[in-house]
Parts: sequence; structure tokens; C-alpha cells
Amino acid sequence: NKQVILREYVSGYPKESDMYVTTGTVKLKVPEGSNAVLVKNLYLSCDPYMRNRMKPATESYIGSYTQGSPIDGHGVGKVLDSAHPKFKQGDLVWGVTGWEEYSLITQTDYLFKIEHTDVPLSYYTGILGMPGMTAYGGFYEVCSPKKGEYVFISAASGAVGQLVGQFAKLLGCFVVGSAGSKEKVDLLKNKFGFDEAFNYKEEPDLDAALKRYFPEGIDIYFENVGGKTLDAVLLNMRAHGRISVCGMISQYNLDELEGVKNLVLIIAKRIRMQGFIAFDYYHLYPKFLDTVLSGIREGKIVYVEDIAEGLENGPAALVGLFSGRNVGKQVVMVARE
Ligand code: NDP
Repeated sequence: NKQVILREYVSGYPKESDMYVTTGTVKLKVPEGSNAVLVKNLYLSCDPYMRNRMKPATESYIGSYTQGSPIDGHGVGKVLDSAHPKFKQGDLVWGVTGWEEYSLITQTDYLFKIEHTDVPLSYYTGILGMPGMTAYGGFYEVCSPKKGEYVFISAASGAVGQLVGQFAKLLGCFVVGSAGSKEKVDLLKNKFGFDEAFNYKEEPDLDAALKRYFPEGIDIYFENVGGKTLDAVLLNMRAHGRISVCGMISQYNLDELEGVKNLVLIIAKRIRMQGFIAFDYYHLYPKFLDTVLSGIREGKIVYVEDIAEGLENGPAALVGLFSGRNVGKQVVMVARE
């Protein structure tokens, strides 16, 4: 059983060498009297929150990894054996699993059976899985969006951002995204249908850039990066604007967090700023799946993923999120079936 192990806790930017691949053993049978499910992992999801689990216990909503043990995350697998009444051999599932070839899953609260296989299975690590639910809950539930509103999204071409932008366009909003390369900006404009997009790395003055794209200000900011971007956005928010705080990836590798200078503007502008976790909205999964699957089938929603092949390429793919190496949702393929 090939596994990805966290060598030791990480400070600063994570490196491929912070993890290593080794071979352990696994019993291909679930223990008697358990509720466990044994899966063969097919696709693993690279998610920015995994960086926060590579440090010693923090105030995070989710625990740290154990040094010298396999890491885990979201993934798609095939059930080889099950003692759980909801899952049987041959079922395809998505949920939290190990970064390894075979996993014995004992925490089955967030394990979902995959019923629709007319789309690629890897989609359940992204657009039809946790990041998709993040976009759905974080946009519709947190932002209270209305047709015609001005929407800005950072890290817009990634797993979450690309879907938020498309939801906003489908609703009839004016949508601008920022991303870190020309290739990503082209994707935003030409593939995902954003009205405008810009490369934040080429904008010496983010405030001026936002004023150019939003002369009348921003109603909704979908926050994925934090730091300087949030500061510039606050200067450009309209009265009664909403900020959905999904993530702040620019802060995850810092030993000391950056301050946000312009927070005081929240008062006069009556801004509502709310953090959330994807799990908060999992009760909406059936409705979400219906909406997004029909969107994909009808060609109204498109999706871009970046697939690294082989578990041994997992560490590089995961750390690549923090240099923006991924173009679209970063996935690791462990096995095709
Ligand atoms: P992405 O697919 O967008 O990958 C991460 C991207 O972030 C990179 O490709 C890079 O794109 C950008 N990035 C990396 N470092 C920086 C930086 N210092 N400044 C600005 N941008 C940077 O990831 P996801 O879509 O999966 O996640 C997006 C955000 O959503 C993250 O903050 C994540 O933590 C959060 N999240 C929150 C969840 C929740 O439940 N609240 C659940 C899932 C995700 P670029 O080239 O454009 O810089």
C-alpha cells in the first residue's frame, strides 16, 4: 500500500520534500464488528486547507496531521469491502480518505455514494464534491446575491473560484476575477465567461485596478486570498456590500499574519463579512448536485481540472497550489478504476 507521509511539521512554504512516499501494508478486509469501509483510492484532491494541517495544533476547525503518518484529504474511491449498511462492494464513493492506494475508512459521516457516473469520476473531488459545495454555499447562502450586482472573485480560476464566477454569471451579475497568470486570465474570460479578468501579479496598484473594473464599486467579494487583496477590495466595496470569506491562501505560509488596514471601512459601508466552512451547507448537497449536474450536462457550466498522474506525484501537486502551478482544480490520479 503506497502512502504519502508527512515528514515533519512545516513552516513557511511547503516543499515536496516535506512529504515522502513509502510502502505500508494493508488488510484487504474490514475488521469484524466494525462500521468501516475499505476503498481503493482512485482520485485525490489537493486542497489549500491541507497546508494548515501541516503545522502543530492551531485553532483550526480541523486537526493537524500526525508527523510520520500518512496524510488524508478528500478523494474518490471504489469500495472493496464494507461493514457499513450504506455501502457495498463495488460502490463508488467520495469523501475523506487517506493519501494512499487503499484506505480503511472508519469515519463515514462525510462519505457519499456516487450515483451519477456520466461525468468523469474526478469531478467528485472538485466541482461535484467539497470545493463545489464551498462555491455553492459560499455564494448563494453567504452573499445573498441579486441579479445585476457587481461581483469580484480572487483566485478565480481555481477549484472554487471558477464555479462561483459561473454561478454569478448565470444569475446575471457583472463578474470580474483575478488570477496569477495570463493563461488563467484567458481561461476566466474565454472559458468561464467572466466579464473581465486581470493578472494581479502585473498590477502594482490593486486599488487602481479594482477602480478600473468597478467604477461604481463592488457589491460582492468572494474572498479566497486575503492580505493586500482584501485591503484593496475594502476600499472599493459599495454600501451594504457582502464579503464571503472562503479562504485566505496568501496567509497560510506566513509565520506572522499580515494585518488588514482598511477593516474600519466595514462600519460606514455597512459591509457584511462572513466566514463559513463547506460542511455548513452539506444539507444542501442533493439540491446542489441537481443544479450543477444539469448545468454540466446542458453545457451551461464548464470545468477545468489539472490532473497529476500517480500517487508519487501527489506531494509536488499539493505544494504547487501555493505557487499557483495548478491551472484549474488540482487532482491526483492514483488509479483509473
Ligand atoms: P485553487 O484551485 O484556487 O488553488 C489555489 C490558488 O491560489 C493557486 O492556484 C493560486 O492561483 C492562488 N494563490 C496561491 N498563493 C497565493 C497568494 N499568496 N496570493 C494570491 N493567490 C494565491 O484552490 P481552491 O479553489 O481549492 O481554494 C481557494 C480558496 O478557498 C482557498 O483559500 C481555500 O483555503 C478556500 N477554501 C475554503 C473552504 C471552506 O470550507 N471555507 C473549502 C475549500 C477551499 P493564482 O495563480 O491565481 O495565484
